[in-house]
Amino acid sequence: MIEIKSFVGGRWDSGRGEKTVLVNPATEEPLAHAASAGVDFGAALSFARSQGQTLRAMSFAARGEILRAMSRAIHAHRDELITLAIANGGNTRSDAKFDIDGASGTLGAYADLAATLGEGMLTDGDAFQLGRSARLYGRHVWVPREGVAVHINAFNFPAWGFGEKAAVALLAGMPIVVKAATSTSLVAFRLMEIFASEGAIPVGAISFIASQPGDLLSHLTAQDVLAFTGSSATASLLRTNAAVVRNSVKLNVEADSLNAAVLGADVDSGDLMNLFVGDVVRDMTQKTGQKCTAIRRVIVPKNRVADVTAMIGERLAAVRIGDPSLENVTMGPLATARQMRDAQAGITRLAADSRTAFGGEAIRPIGVADGKGFFVGPVLFVHESGAPEGAAHTREEVFGPVATVVAYDGEADAAARIVAAGGGSLVSSVYSDDKDYLRRFVRGAAAFNGRVSIASTKIASQALQPGMVLPQLIHGGPGRAGGGEELGGMRGLSLYMQRVALQGDRALLDSIVG
Ligand code: NAP
Repeated sequence: MIEIKSFVGGRWDSGRGEKTVLVNPATEEPLAHAASAGVDFGAALSFARSQGQTLRAMSFAARGEILRAMSRAIHAHRDELITLAIANGGNTRSDAKFDIDGASGTLGAYADLAATLGEGMLTDGDAFQLGRSARLYGRHVWVPREGVAVHINAFNFPAWGFGEKAAVALLAGMPIVVKAATSTSLVAFRLMEIFASEGAIPVGAISFIASQPGDLLSHLTAQDVLAFTGSSATASLLRTNAAVVRNSVKLNVEADSLNAAVLGADVDSGDLMNLFVGDVVRDMTQKTGQKCTAIRRVIVPKNRVADVTAMIGERLAAVRIGDPSLENVTMGPLATARQMRDAQAGITRLAADSRTAFGGEAIRPIGVADGKGFFVGPVLFVHESGAPEGAAHTREEVFGPVATVVAYDGEADAAARIVAAGGGSLVSSVYSDDKDYLRRFVRGAAAFNGRVSIASTKIASQALQPGMVLPQLIHGGPGRAGGGEELGGMRGLSLYMQRVALQGDRALLDSIVG
């Protein structure tokens, strides 16, 4: 069995105390164990902070080279990482690639960005005259925060979650401490092993915590950053953590989300309809629906509900559920027994005010011994009542292969109202060629989303799946989705930097800023 260790203070620490056992969620076979009692979290953070000086002294281009080395190292170990993700995450090969290539791709994109940032300070807007003469000027600059960035990641993207947060923080000049979700931490641990042996990464730039975080958060100080991805329940604990509150620690939260896909009344067949149904089915089944950006609500004009439901159901019937290490399997299990129980309970709650249109019966996973594995088959609900407020689909994020078709009257404003009733989402997608409809929908729904994906016939053949998070666009959403914001190219750096206003003699300002 593999021993998952922490990497703190520039060395490996096995931890002590109770071990958490990581299993293969298809077979329940134990794979690894992790423990963190006895790890000195205060010392780990102090060490990382002190090493931050090395990072801050580097140019953006030099930090970009670190990201390039990380991206290449992941790519060089791609097959090995995919095998681990299949075993520990219940991922199919395609699911695993989505996570691992997402990590190397995001690091690569930020390495490219670094090469464009020059040698001086990062400025925010132009300088402007403040006084009577053209001598007294003001301007804004960004400087790296002088603490450590603690990254707490969710179980569903052990590689991408590590890579996307690391890319932005390291480029900004902050060392990172990564706390992976324990249940699927085999991939993240292997990444840490790879990075620790990679000569291009300065000692102390990356630390890793296996298993429980103990008193880690109580050591956070005013220059530190806490970036969290996970459930709203855990986010609430972090928001009220005494050290976070006392020291005004900068906190970013990426939490759960009731993402929507909206079908315009003008779409009845052809490429756009095909794209819509394909996006819904992919999001329900990719990573077994355990994607924060997955479509949970499929908003469809009332008179199209029956045929759209039938089209989705037909494709879901072709999904082959089982041990994801088998080539013919297209959907694996949920990642843990807890996720399976939570998904089953959520399905029961959704069923309380919706009709089951597909699934819900017992499944026989391919290549799995009877009674083993954390399997849940795809379930599609239909909610016919127009009123979204209070309906289960506006409350329940079932983190599994589950979605609800919600009927609406075909008006853009009504679709936007249903989207908004989800309380804040990471992404919504809309499918239409009707300009007026799209304008009204985007204006009505935009404030309730971090991203809106607009699919029309002209771009149907090259549309990106709405659930794919891109380094160029911001990721995060208001309200229920946590209120956070990550990535978005340069925009992501603001989490890890302090914006400072400088005022004084223009020539002096210019020489300081560089
Ligand atoms: P979770 O139970 O909240 O765990 C998230 C992370 O927080 C894990 O690393 C967990 O560690 C850690 N954690 C738990 N309690 C903690 C505490 N008291 N102090 C510090 N860390 C703590 O969430 P999850 O089940 O892993 O993830 C599923 C949820 O994440 C879903 O709701 C999903 O929508 C959301 N998610 C959101 C995004 C996004 O970008 N918005 C992306 C992915 C997932 P342990 O594993 O060791 O408990």
